[in-house]
Amino acid sequence: MPEAIAKLSFWGVRGSTPTVDRAMWRYGGNTPCLELETPSGARFILDCGTGLRTLGKHWSANRGGRETNAHIFLTHYHWDHIQGIPFFSPLYAAENRFHFYSFRSPSLGPDSLKRVFEAQMAIPYFPVDLSAMSASREFTEVDGGERFEVGGARVTTRWLNHPQGCLGFRFETPVGTVVYATDNEPGDPKLDKSLRELAQGADIFVNDAQFTPPQLAMARKGWGHSSWLEGVRIAQEVGVRNLVLFHHDPDSSDRAVDEILREARGQFESVWAATEGMVLTLGKRKFGVVIPTVREGLRREASFRAHVSGFTGDGLAFEENTVIRNLSLHGAMIYLDHSPKLQSELHVMIESTAGPGQGNVPMRLRAYVVRIEPGPEKDQTAVGIVFTE
Ligand SMILES: [Zn+2]
Ligand SMILES: [Zn+2]
Repeated sequence: MPEAIAKLSFWGVRGSTPTVDRAMWRYGGNTPCLELETPSGARFILDCGTGLRTLGKHWSANRGGRETNAHIFLTHYHWDHIQGIPFFSPLYAAENRFHFYSFRSPSLGPDSLKRVFEAQMAIPYFPVDLSAMSASREFTEVDGGERFEVGGARVTTRWLNHPQGCLGFRFETPVGTVVYATDNEPGDPKLDKSLRELAQGADIFVNDAQFTPPQLAMARKGWGHSSWLEGVRIAQEVGVRNLVLFHHDPDSSDRAVDEILREARGQFESVWAATEGMVLTLGKRKFGVVIPTVREGLRREASFRAHVSGFTGDGLAFEENTVIRNLSLHGAMIYLDHSPKLQSELHVMIESTAGPGQGNVPMRLRAYVVRIEPGPEKDQTAVGIVFTE
């Protein structure tokens, strides 16, 4: 019998607003949405940011017409946590059933989440009427400090420090504990203590890491968010096994998140930066992290000699020689005597070998001219190209 596991998948990791910037594609631009599958097979959705749309597509493609039954936990009503709802296709199929858990907002009153649904789909904000949402929907109001059982997991809620309120959730399953605490600013002693109780001994602790420690101390103080350093402190204080930095700032490029992760790993070994597509698995004796590679973009078999140096999972430095075998190609800058037309197609042949001992097999590529500039030498043109085929 296969080992029972809990599986946590990240469908949206960006805070505040979705981003489509190329400098942020590696970590991803969709706003918060996580999927937790418990060992008993129950499905939970944590927050309904724009990542929810992709999750809906995935479910529709893989469930083969079977009905979907899921529990949806909403931390709060800010745009980035609800914006995916109207675009979640399983909500438009009558055979599906969803149970929502969220708090009563003082501004919205009773049935807060129902009112959010109505407001999001009101004319003229959305073209489809709420009556088209035919899936059965049940709403449960929860408060901070509650404990209840759902789908084979024990759920605990706690208030976090965020404008207009936000709930943190702890999910205890038979194989381990996941704590989801996004949108929280440290500095309120009572709530800081409460968050530590929520995160106590968690196997996976997903925490708001939107700002850098200097930003949090100065320009972004009072904005309702946290930093990697706070996450590391909590993880160390309450014996968290794995910390996940989450809710990346919409202005943080992939390189900026890389740097945040590097700094965090300098102080706590088991830290991961939330990435769209990342899947964490928890078993009784094991923990796993995978980021399934999306084979998007252009790839070619190649054979270039390379020297690689880095660190192993145990922190040991290594270096070795290798061969680059499968190259992903985005673009290049080439210098030409001719000046091609901007937004025209070029055919480019790059000399390479197909593999060791297989002789010269040139790489034939089609490219598209995206930039024309004066070259480094007189009468030369610098041509920016993007490979298309
Ligand atoms: Zn947020
Ligand atoms: Zn928020």
